[in-house]
Parts: sequence; C-alpha cells; structure tokens
Amino acid sequence: MNTLSVIKMGHPNLRKIASPVPLDQLQSPRYQEFIDHLINTMRAEDGAGIAAPQVDVVERIFVMEVDNNPRYPDKPSFPLLVAINPEIKPIGTKQVESWEGCLSIPNIRGKLMRWAQVKITGYDRDGHFFEKELSDFAAVVAQHELDHLNGILFIDRMKDMKSLCFQAEYERFYL
Ligand SMILES: [Zn+2]
Repeated sequence: MNTLSVIKMGHPNLRKIASPVPLDQLQSPRYQEFIDHLINTMRAEDGAGIAAPQVDVVERIFVMEVDNNPRYPDKPSFPLLVAINPEIKPIGTKQVESWEGCLSIPNIRGKLMRWAQVKITGYDRDGHFFEKELSDFAAVVAQHELDHLNGILFIDRMKDMKSLCFQAEYERFYL
C-alpha cells in the first residue's frame, strides 16, 4: 500500500493557491494512482481528510472519510468523498464551534468557528460533477480541506489563540 509523506507547517507549498485539475487528464494513471495514494495516506495517518498540497502536490484535490477514527473518537462516521476542483458555499448562517487538528500541524488542536451546513460541488474521481449537502463534522472537515487548496491553515481562522493546545492536553481537558 503506497502512502505519501505529509509536509508540515512551514513548508511554503502549504501556503500556495492550488491549481485546478485538468479534467481531461483525470483518467490518466498519474491522477488515478495519486488519488489512491492520497486515500491510503489519509487512512494510514488516521486523518479525517487530506488535501493534495499536504503531500506536496499543489492541485485542487482533497479526500475525506471518517470510519471509527481514533483521532476523532467522538465524531460520527461519513463515507469516502473524493473532491476534485471543489467549491463550498454555506447553507444558512449557523456556525459551529470546531476543535481542529491537522496532519500538517501534528499533535496540536485549536478551536475555531465553521459553517454548520454547506453545499459542496465538484467532480468525483471519474470526472462526474457532483453536488452534496454536508452538515456538522463532515461540513467542518470539507471546509478545513478546502482551505488547504487556498493556502489557509486552521490556525489562521482562530479568533483567540488561547485555545491552541497540544493533543494530550486537549484530550485531558476538553474532549
Ligand atoms: Zn489540515
């Protein structure tokens, strides 16, 4: 099972605007194998999602999935979603408090606000257009991963840095 190495905060490619994927090349082995490796990497790292720039490929692809994830024991599962050239719009104005972590910022958590419900549009790995409504944790993960395609890390969205903490302290005091 091939996995890719995850680049960490400080790597300049985490701060770039990712390029759109040319949909006419999506069926090529280069993209199809890359998507498989991205999914394998997310699962191997126990991520709820991972975006291509996090493995040093600055293109507009992310994958997300939660199935009894040990990093998110209190969160509901959601099925694998592969999103190519995705866009996200909030549905309504309700926001939720979100304690987030990131494979590119290991062992750190912080609290921020996200849209509670969103509409995501994009293309699946076969190049078919899709539109889905996501809510709660799935909506939060999609917003986090989309941010990676725009060079944004979750810490950028924290209004108050006092909640920034290490994973062990998060689990001890806040989970
Ligand atoms: Zn992340």
